[in-house]
Amino acid sequence: MASLVEAEELDARDPLASRRELFIGSDDPSVSAYLDGNSLGRPLRASAARLASFASDAWGSRLIRGWDEEWFDLPLSLGDRIGAITLGAAAGQVAVGDSTTVLLYKLIRAAVDARPGRTEIVVDTDNFPTDRYLVEGIAAERGLELRWIESDTRGGVSPAELEAVVGAKTALVLLSHVAYRSGFLADVPALTAIAHDSGALVLWDVCHSVASVPIELDEWGVDIAVGCTYKYLNGGPGSPAFVYVRRDLQNQLSQPIQGWMGHAAPFDMGPGYSPAPGMRRFLSGTPSIVGMQALRDMVDLIAEVGMEAIRAKSETLTRFAVEAVDDWPASWAVELATPREAERRGSHVTIEHPAFKQITAELWRRGVIPDFRAPHGMRLGLSPLSTSHVELWNGLEAVREQLVRL
Ligand SMILES: *Cc1c(COP(=O)(O)O)cnc(C)c1O
Repeated sequence: MASLVEAEELDARDPLASRRELFIGSDDPSVSAYLDGNSLGRPLRASAARLASFASDAWGSRLIRGWDEEWFDLPLSLGDRIGAITLGAAAGQVAVGDSTTVLLYKLIRAAVDARPGRTEIVVDTDNFPTDRYLVEGIAAERGLELRWIESDTRGGVSPAELEAVVGAKTALVLLSHVAYRSGFLADVPALTAIAHDSGALVLWDVCHSVASVPIELDEWGVDIAVGCTYKYLNGGPGSPAFVYVRRDLQNQLSQPIQGWMGHAAPFDMGPGYSPAPGMRRFLSGTPSIVGMQALRDMVDLIAEVGMEAIRAKSETLTRFAVEAVDDWPASWAVELATPREAERRGSHVTIEHPAFKQITAELWRRGVIPDFRAPHGMRLGLSPLSTSHVELWNGLEAVREQLVRL
């Protein structure tokens, strides 16, 4: 039986437990359980200090000189650091900029244009909405067809399902590493190899895995990946996304938003667009330097503790959540909508019950914050560095109390 005592013991044995105090809000009595760090990570205390000093020093005092001193290169230098610490990417393959949606648009367009004569994009029906909406628009724009994999909303895309739809017509396969709804963890090397066997490119959306699941983009032979920084990278609401493009592909790709910041010589301000070599060509306009500040502290913290320790904690947390839900009476009919094996899921657990919409609203009023996903999924997002087992237990108890009353 999962219990408060067990949660306390797990916290006592957790080598990352003391890191929780580094986050603002971890001692806020009005929020007894924050279970939505997979939508918006908590701020680090170091980030509050960094943002304040950024305003007074880097921006307020260095002024326009900041561009020459650091900011012009920050999309690439911070990209390299995210790549080295969280993506298994050698330097020169990651850039930070735009939102995930805009980067996905740019890279999907670039990828399909790099496979002329191929007329199909493969995508799954349970991929994140923005991914699905983007390919609808791009297919219309470029006269392409969509091949949908009907994926299981409690699981994800299997190698056999992908094998059944890819072929000589496939230009691009667009998949998510961790399914935003079910938490299913896709087999990136196997699925990437299947797409490559048919001559297609693959774009991995790593929004829900980066900084919670170890990623080895270079080793896995990934072509392109895009991810968020405001979830497990704690960059703050709307912090910019990042893109990885494998080195040998970079100069073969042309992205459609041809802005001056991606130009080979932006300050010549000359006629005609000529893309910069390497990752800079994937930038468009002036990057959000303010938006890049907070996530630097989280990347430093991850570098210190390592992705292996983060993954180990994440598995302990999700196992404890599943165990606690399993203890609830079968007559409540709460269903697990996440793979049962810890190694087949990311860092959130989704449970389903018809009353979860109303229950989630009540919990939010009481300072217990999971996420609701229509039609009746409750997502328990477990951010390994900022969530404790006792916090998770408190949240699960609050859900249980609501269910008892039904
Ligand atoms: C959060 C998330 C996004 C969000 O894209 P934005 O442009 O930042 O709104 C995209 N894809 C996945 C898989 C996500 O989890």
